[in-house]
Amino acid sequence: MGKFVRTLVTSALPYANGPLHIGHIAGAYLPGDIFVRYNRLKGNDIVYICGTDEYGVPITISAEKEGKTPQDIVDHFYPIIKDSFDKLGIIFDNFSRTSNPIHTETAQDFFLKFLEKDLLVKRESEQWYDPEKKMFLPDRYVTGSCPECGHEGAKGDQCEVCGKWYESVELKDPISLLSGKTPVLKKTTHWYMKFNEFQDRLKEFIDTRKDWKNNVINYCKGWLDEGLEERAITRDLDWGIPVPLDDAEGKKIYVWFEAVLGYISSTKEWAEKKGDPSLWEKYWKSEDTRLIHFIGKDNIYFHALMFPAMLMGYGGYVLEDDIPANEFLNLKGSKLSTSRNHAVWLHEYLEAFPPDPLRYILAANAPEGKDTEFSWADFQSKNNNELADILGNFIHRTLTFVHKYFDGKVPVQSKLNKSDGVLLTHIEEAVSKTGEAFSTFKVRNAVKHMMDLARAGNKYFNENEPWLTRKSDIERCATTLNMSLQSIKTLAVIAAPIIPFTSEKIWKFLNLSETLNWEQAGVTDLKAGHVLNIPEVLFKKIEDEQIEEQEQKLNGS
Ligand SMILES: [Zn+2]
Repeated sequence: MGKFVRTLVTSALPYANGPLHIGHIAGAYLPGDIFVRYNRLKGNDIVYICGTDEYGVPITISAEKEGKTPQDIVDHFYPIIKDSFDKLGIIFDNFSRTSNPIHTETAQDFFLKFLEKDLLVKRESEQWYDPEKKMFLPDRYVTGSCPECGHEGAKGDQCEVCGKWYESVELKDPISLLSGKTPVLKKTTHWYMKFNEFQDRLKEFIDTRKDWKNNVINYCKGWLDEGLEERAITRDLDWGIPVPLDDAEGKKIYVWFEAVLGYISSTKEWAEKKGDPSLWEKYWKSEDTRLIHFIGKDNIYFHALMFPAMLMGYGGYVLEDDIPANEFLNLKGSKLSTSRNHAVWLHEYLEAFPPDPLRYILAANAPEGKDTEFSWADFQSKNNNELADILGNFIHRTLTFVHKYFDGKVPVQSKLNKSDGVLLTHIEEAVSKTGEAFSTFKVRNAVKHMMDLARAGNKYFNENEPWLTRKSDIERCATTLNMSLQSIKTLAVIAAPIIPFTSEKIWKFLNLSETLNWEQAGVTDLKAGHVLNIPEVLFKKIEDEQIEEQEQKLNGS
């Protein structure tokens, strides 16, 4: 933490135009939740903010497709998204909506402040226009070829292949998504943010963020080398936050200018709910706040360059301390996609399986340094061979043994031998290594070190053969079980950020009165005679038929 006394964590605002899929979870939400859970366990002052992004063209396109209003769409998906997060154990301190009035106020305030500070310029320009539908086609209303890499089917504002963000008029071979026809260029007036004026300050900002992930720094340096340009921050749209000026009828604030401000308005809402409306300022305006954004790599431009520029431009705000952006989780070799229905949907997963196996698999496979792949076969194998056979088995065999032969009470620990010493070292290392991994956003390593302790526990149990020493050396047998239980206590703590539901169950088996917290990790103080609860199976094996069913769903989509 260093100079920081509090942390504000955000995860990218999901679009309220569809349910969540596992690609969203792997990139922006699970890594954020794991980091926040670790900090909460340590008792650190941390607030976790999110909400749905309810404006923008993807929402209006979904509405048109389904013959509904944009409001219908967002009202339908907000509770579905919120419910999926809850059930997966992604726990935000506040989960807001950008259609809430507090967000409109915040976004309009930023717009006016930028105008006042001469950071906006009003310009006439040409935009794509659909003569048949008689409307302008901002952003994703057009598709075409990427001006950077030539990828066909690039979105109107961004290429998913090379990551480039552009003005939609730069698109080659544009097609209107409304009529399927080639649009024409037509004059309109918009407000542009003088993004170029932030070039030097942003370069200095990025240069000081030496410990950021390479992918984030490299993307930013590439964009800065090209030189930043003015960006239009308004659009001709019906659905969005109105430009708060008299001469701006029909003009809305561009979703990418206002959506990131949702972090601020959601924090304001949180403070109001806490009964201390000015509390949000402590988290956004104090130098000793650490601001961290969890995002996928497609969001780097707006979080590492545009949002910092907006915070600098407004003035008085803290800037990002870190942006641990992740690469993509792919499915059958290609990126998951809401619009193409190429996904494993979270709400469907949660109907079929418990939350922790998915959390575990997505953490073990986190796309931290490069894109990774999800497959149902890997899901089954990690659930059965790792969670059930290693972690679940060690805990279950230890607790059932104690219930069977020691009356369900922690057995007495006698003289420790070399093998006990090795296990103690494993316990200590697991605590320090998982702690290091959690605090540096390395969830893959955290999973590995957590499982290393479970493996060490199983090995210890096997080598000490308590089923034999029970008859030949009861003191040795008791010590073996005592030590196994001590390591299970640490496992419960270090597993908590990754598989919180399981961790709570293990804590309950151990019948401990303290609430689970990080200080308990590595503390081998379970007292002889302490009564334990009867364990239940932690991870059910997943059968081939269950996997086939999911595979079929995927092929059918
Ligand atoms: Zn491209």
